[in-house]
Amino acid sequence: MDSSLRAATSSLSTPLCGRRTSATLPPMTAEALLAPGLYLVATPIGNLEDMTLRAARVLKQADLIACEDTRHTQKLLNHFGITTRAISYHEHNEASRAAELIERLAHGARIAILSDAGTPGISDPGFRLVSLAIQRGITVVSIPGSTAFVTALVASGLPLELFSFRGFLPPKSGARRRELEKIRISSSTEIFYEAPHRIRETLEDVVEALGPQRPVVVARELTKIHEEFLRGTAEQVLGSLKTRDDIKGEIVLLIGAAMEGENQSPPLSIRNRVEQIMREEKLGEKNALKKAAKERGISKSEAYREMQRKQR
Ligand code: SAM
Repeated sequence: MDSSLRAATSSLSTPLCGRRTSATLPPMTAEALLAPGLYLVATPIGNLEDMTLRAARVLKQADLIACEDTRHTQKLLNHFGITTRAISYHEHNEASRAAELIERLAHGARIAILSDAGTPGISDPGFRLVSLAIQRGITVVSIPGSTAFVTALVASGLPLELFSFRGFLPPKSGARRRELEKIRISSSTEIFYEAPHRIRETLEDVVEALGPQRPVVVARELTKIHEEFLRGTAEQVLGSLKTRDDIKGEIVLLIGAAMEGENQSPPLSIRNRVEQIMREEKLGEKNALKKAAKERGISKSEAYREMQRKQR
């Protein structure tokens, strides 16, 4: 067996964790051979020190890199002295590009797929290519690294036994409320990606739909200079963000489980909710209906129709 092949075989079969000491780890400089296949390569979400040695090696040895934005990726490649050609693979050319990449893979190419940051396929393109590759019997290799939601979750202080990652919340308030309603009685930590210019209105919806006391964490600019975690009740975190002129950067929003006994009962009917708002907030029926409709993420006329239906 030639020596480079031996290095490759030993590094592939040697676990990098467990009870082995560092003395038994494969030398990181060894240029293990890259087998043909599709490589999903995670890249840093802000801090270039989070690039793994393996990710850099795979990108160096790949025949081609398919990435969301070639100009953005080129900066990363330049930083690590990687000269592999990069082509675009994003949501707008995903279908045609996937077919082309699969043909190359079927002929033995080694293709790395990258997103702008983090792990490909997580709220980013990747799934289509992976499923096509699996259908064609092409080897798929995951090269782990950063993912924003895991980075946020582990430091959030919210329970980790059970969690759901739900990607981006809908940008429009109605649809967002409906999405939040789904987790009203959730017993897991719920994780979302959110844009900085929407975080305040989203937290207002959280307060309305899930209650002001629901535990919330806003994780902003993870791994970057201005990284911060805002932890508290929905009302507290919203209050803190309302004092700022501007909110910038990338955000992961985490919502804790519903408290024992809290929110466990089914939601009030529209009529009962309207009456409750009229009583508690001293509003007229029209305004109470408007508010109840907003809470449910439905239009006023829809709420009115529902109220009439329930009366019959
Ligand atoms: N594939 C990526 C991953 O593995 O996390 C996610 C890509 S998604 C298009 C981008 C969203 O991820 C951002 O809008 C933000 O919600 C979240 N995100 C990415 N980097 C982040 C960071 N450094 N801090 C906080 N959130 C981040």
